[in-house]
Amino acid sequence: MFSHFSKFAVSITKSMEHTRRNRIVDLLKSREFGSEVMVKGWVRTKRGNKNITFISLNDGSVIHHIQVVAEVARFDEEVLKLVTTGSCIAVRGTLVESMGQGQHVEIQAKEIEILGTADPETYPLQKKGHSLEFLRDIAHLRPRTNTFGAVLRIRHAMAYAIHKYFNDHGFFYIHAPIITGSDAEGAGAMFRVTTLDDRNPPLLPDGQVDYSQDFFGKETKLTVSGQLEAELGAMALSLVYTFGPTFRAENSNTPRHLAEFWMIEPEMAFYDITDNMDLAEDFLKYLMQYALDYCIDDLEFLTKMYDNELIDRLKGVINSKFERLSYTQAVEILIASGQTWEFPVAWGSDLQAEHERYLVEKHFGRPVILTDYPRDIKAFYMKQNPDGTTVRGMDVLFPRIGEIIGGSQREENLEALMNRIHEMNIPEKDVWWYLDTRKFGTAPHAGFGLGFERLILFVTGMANIRDVIPFPRSPKNAAF
Ligand code: ATP
Ligand code: MN
Repeated sequence: MFSHFSKFAVSITKSMEHTRRNRIVDLLKSREFGSEVMVKGWVRTKRGNKNITFISLNDGSVIHHIQVVAEVARFDEEVLKLVTTGSCIAVRGTLVESMGQGQHVEIQAKEIEILGTADPETYPLQKKGHSLEFLRDIAHLRPRTNTFGAVLRIRHAMAYAIHKYFNDHGFFYIHAPIITGSDAEGAGAMFRVTTLDDRNPPLLPDGQVDYSQDFFGKETKLTVSGQLEAELGAMALSLVYTFGPTFRAENSNTPRHLAEFWMIEPEMAFYDITDNMDLAEDFLKYLMQYALDYCIDDLEFLTKMYDNELIDRLKGVINSKFERLSYTQAVEILIASGQTWEFPVAWGSDLQAEHERYLVEKHFGRPVILTDYPRDIKAFYMKQNPDGTTVRGMDVLFPRIGEIIGGSQREENLEALMNRIHEMNIPEKDVWWYLDTRKFGTAPHAGFGLGFERLILFVTGMANIRDVIPFPRSPKNAAF
């Protein structure tokens, strides 16, 4: 079947000739009426009458479906019967101008091949309009819905745009390890990586597990952040970034936390905290603009279906100057607000999402960057201010999300860093390699971490972080 493929049709397709397939995204833009085309994809709906069948087909290249028109008399009845919602088919036919509403082109089918049937009795996506909760239970099939197709395409575009932005700005992509022997990342509870027999681990005389007999000869964990390794890169290549999976074993069952998520961590030699804020703001605006430029069909769909302010909100970020103020000033605003909070506000305690969102959504009405946090609630590596109580940390806060970026200028002074490590009881033997960068050719530097799924939450307007990653991992949930 489909052995012959006309030259004319090949000129439409952007895909390679040997695939013998036109992507639906290309056909929907084509005006080469009369040309022979071939599409392969999954049937979304079939309707019609005894003379004519309309098949709505999607191949994931674009949110829109292409309409396939089949004259019943030209086809084997048995074949048409197998064209059901969810089945996979190949269609060869002629691209024609469509008289139907909402589409310019359709395919007049000449041949239909069933690649894979889908029993209507048991196919879980037989009907439209399933809840997002239900779709989470069928994460293996949800990419076939319009919503997840849109989310996955946007996720791809954002990953690509992140690499493009950094590449265009002279950054080098560094791969931080996923398995870490360092316990000092300090960003949260960690998952252990081990090959020891869980029923009968080797024990030390004091009853503790003897990790010297474990795979790496020591206790190892899944990384919570690639920052410390990125710093090593920045002290050689000046501008670097990581983009990889990170893991946190916290029991945070919120719509903004995952146990496995992806993080982007740029690290820049010779940057201070102001440079760091400028980069974060420019970077986020670039990503919003990229989404508007390259994902507008998917954004329009999500705006219509889930969040009618989505596109305006993205434009709002691009057009606003992020408000910059200190943690201390923010606490004063929150206390003066007269709001009642679930978590009380007091100088010295970490801000909660409710406080962050109040500042962004109610008080300022635009993204906010808070700086100079109390040193006791921040990690050991943040640069200490002369006041002795605050550090040069910065969090970027977004509408609906709260914290989307956390970062800081780093403490580059060896003595100050050593004092902090001792105060926080971090064993020197765990961080000697990190301290070496301050011993040999230290330099002012800064960086931040952007949670990839928090970014995708914002850009897609989805409400739950479990719906912006293909296979979410959260407490009590790692189904497949
Ligand atoms: P939060 O206070 O929101 O729990 P955090 O302060 O622990 O976040 P950082 O350690 O600063 O987070 O990590 C940098 C970024 O990674 C955050 O700004 C956020 O975008 C993202 N992030 C952190 N924890 C998670 C998580 N569990 N799931 C998804 N993204 C996360
Ligand atoms: Mn943070």
